[in-house]
Amino acid sequence: MDNEADTFYRELPKVELHAHLNGSVSFQTIEKLIRRKPQLNIEHSMTAIGKGQRRTLDECFQVFKVIHQLVDSEEDIFMVATDVIKEFAADGVKYLELRSTPREETATGLTKRRYIETVIKAIQQCKKERVDIDVRFLVAIDRRNGSQVAMETVQLAEEFFLSSDGLVIGIDLSGDPTVGHGRDLLSALQRAKNSGLKLSLHLSEVPSQHDETDLLLDIPPDRIGHGTFLHPEMGGSQGLVDKVVQKNIPLGRTYFNISSLPLDNGQLFLWIFFSELCLTSNVKGQTVQCYAEHHFKYWYHMGHPIVICTDDKGVFATDLSQEYKMVATTFGLSREAVWKLSQQAIDYIFAPVSVKEQLKQKWRNLQPQEFK
Ligand code: 5GP
Repeated sequence: MDNEADTFYRELPKVELHAHLNGSVSFQTIEKLIRRKPQLNIEHSMTAIGKGQRRTLDECFQVFKVIHQLVDSEEDIFMVATDVIKEFAADGVKYLELRSTPREETATGLTKRRYIETVIKAIQQCKKERVDIDVRFLVAIDRRNGSQVAMETVQLAEEFFLSSDGLVIGIDLSGDPTVGHGRDLLSALQRAKNSGLKLSLHLSEVPSQHDETDLLLDIPPDRIGHGTFLHPEMGGSQGLVDKVVQKNIPLGRTYFNISSLPLDNGQLFLWIFFSELCLTSNVKGQTVQCYAEHHFKYWYHMGHPIVICTDDKGVFATDLSQEYKMVATTFGLSREAVWKLSQQAIDYIFAPVSVKEQLKQKWRNLQPQEFK
């Protein structure tokens, strides 16, 4: 990126809400990891999907397994997390919610607890170095590991929720969407919700998840990851859309964390769910045919709150500036509309209102004169 347009997207202050730690590892950090573990014979082509390349979803999940081989100790996790945070900051990201699945590795003595502590240590280190980014952590449940591990993960997250000074704030549900069913994870997710942890759930990533999505929307989650096949035009159903966009619910009768927008006719239109959309990931992972067909167009034109995210910037060889630029060029958004999109994302972060206010002030300070 080096022309005037690229500079605009790089300098645009941004919020990143959907970034998997081990999927976000850059070429440079992979290089360092490969040098640390030459015996694994891992090459760059095994850890990233380059420009113009595509993979099946299954192949994408194989890539994560390769990266996990490279990142298997506290030392690795600390390096990866600090590098990823600094790279997001260099890309103009001012607020980041990182998510990662705690792992234990017998060979290196890594435990799930140490895993979370190490990510927290990396966040604190970046703070100490005054890196210009506010980072929070979502503990991820890998759906492939079943109900018991999900419950243990929530219990661990609850402990850190209480002891990490606001750094651990939520739960992510991810992992291969073709494996397992959300009903087995329901009680763990409900427990997390009741404890005050925020929930971001990968929903309807593949076409076969209609019933699961229907069930999990009732929890309800605070944000939806991808939601590719929710919309009827993508093979989903109006029933699911209606659940996502609940109209005219009286404010006083709902206890959800919502925002509201007045409609022209004076009625309140209440949004309960916010969607995290990751264009390059969906196109390279072949759940969406091409950028122009991305479900961004349905939700954006409905006025539904959405946030542009990277998902796995390392694996999909992208960054958040490129994702914003891709959205703007594909769907014809003006720079003012792009600015608004990045600013509105502040409303959907999981950190408390005081943080939202600080970020809003930061955006106001950086706002170009012509958008004021
Ligand atoms: P980690 O949790 O190890 O930091 O990041 C990699 C993990 O994130 C993968 O093993 C997978 O569980 C999850 N992940 C990354 N990208 C995606 C995605 O696009 N969809 C789903 N469902 N899970 C993902």
